[in-house]
Amino acid sequence: MKNIKKRRLLVFLIVFVMATTVVFAAPVISDTIKVNFQGKDVDFGEMNIYNDDGRIYVPYRQFFESIGYDVEWDDTTKTAFAFDPLRISDSVDREQKVDAALWQLSAEARACFWQSFNLATLRFDQALEEYEDADNLAVIADVDDTLVDGVMFTADVLQDGEWSGAAFGESLASDACLPLPGAVEFMNYVVDNGGTVFYVTNRDPSLREVTYSRMEEMGFPMVDEDHVFIREEGMASSKESRRQGIVEQGYEVVMLLGDNLEDFSDLFPVTEGVTARRDAVDDMKDQWGDKFIVFPNAVYGDWEKAIYKYDKTKTLEERMADKKAIFDEYKYNQ
Ligand SMILES: [Mg+2]
Repeated sequence: MKNIKKRRLLVFLIVFVMATTVVFAAPVISDTIKVNFQGKDVDFGEMNIYNDDGRIYVPYRQFFESIGYDVEWDDTTKTAFAFDPLRISDSVDREQKVDAALWQLSAEARACFWQSFNLATLRFDQALEEYEDADNLAVIADVDDTLVDGVMFTADVLQDGEWSGAAFGESLASDACLPLPGAVEFMNYVVDNGGTVFYVTNRDPSLREVTYSRMEEMGFPMVDEDHVFIREEGMASSKESRRQGIVEQGYEVVMLLGDNLEDFSDLFPVTEGVTARRDAVDDMKDQWGDKFIVFPNAVYGDWEKAIYKYDKTKTLEERMADKKAIFDEYKYNQ
């Protein structure tokens, strides 16, 4: 794990106010003005607030320390830093994922995984009874956050890291990369009972070798080029063609496992937004817990991209506005 650097918010707004210790000619108005930051009154103590021809000057250190920030002065670069010690990430959108990542690490999440793989085992038993020839039965599973836990990488990124293929590869090769509860047991159960498992993942070709080596080490069966389908160079993110290729080999796909709706079908349109995807899920309500076994992933996925309709050109501010609009839709006390 990388060292966690202090995340500093350089607030240009009031940098020049470091000079407020210099005596101002402007009148002191500390008794007549209040400053409120995000709902919290700022207490400047004995420090003065100045009004210089309509422009209000407040003491930088007292401002931030009063609201719980830590303040540092770098005399070499003549820079004032203020940072919120309660923040784990260095950006708003990452900070919003912190609780989601913690939930993925929770006992409740583990219970969801055991529950889903227990159900998958039951469904596979039913398939064995239904079909005479187990050799034709296939299960298709996504890899990341379905079979293999990606939260250790997420936690690293949220604190100090970067989303990149190289960094992801490093995390996969580390000891922190572990199977999710019930995953190894279930995939082996299928194979031990005559079925075939396929791994359809959007990992890119640079991760092929680490995928094979780590999944074999974890104990997953059938980890080879005939059963692991990564997203090859130039291939679309859709997994439909890879799923179709398995069907064309003559397999009866009795179950699909995934943490993202894309792992099951192309019928869940990310670009058409949240409501369209929810409707599509409802249209297939009988499949969930039957042919489709879905796992929770509150950290990332098409559920989030659907909020801004997969428009990659949107700024952070625009995406935040789209998220807020989802909540606005659910306000019952307008
Ligand atoms: Mg996944």
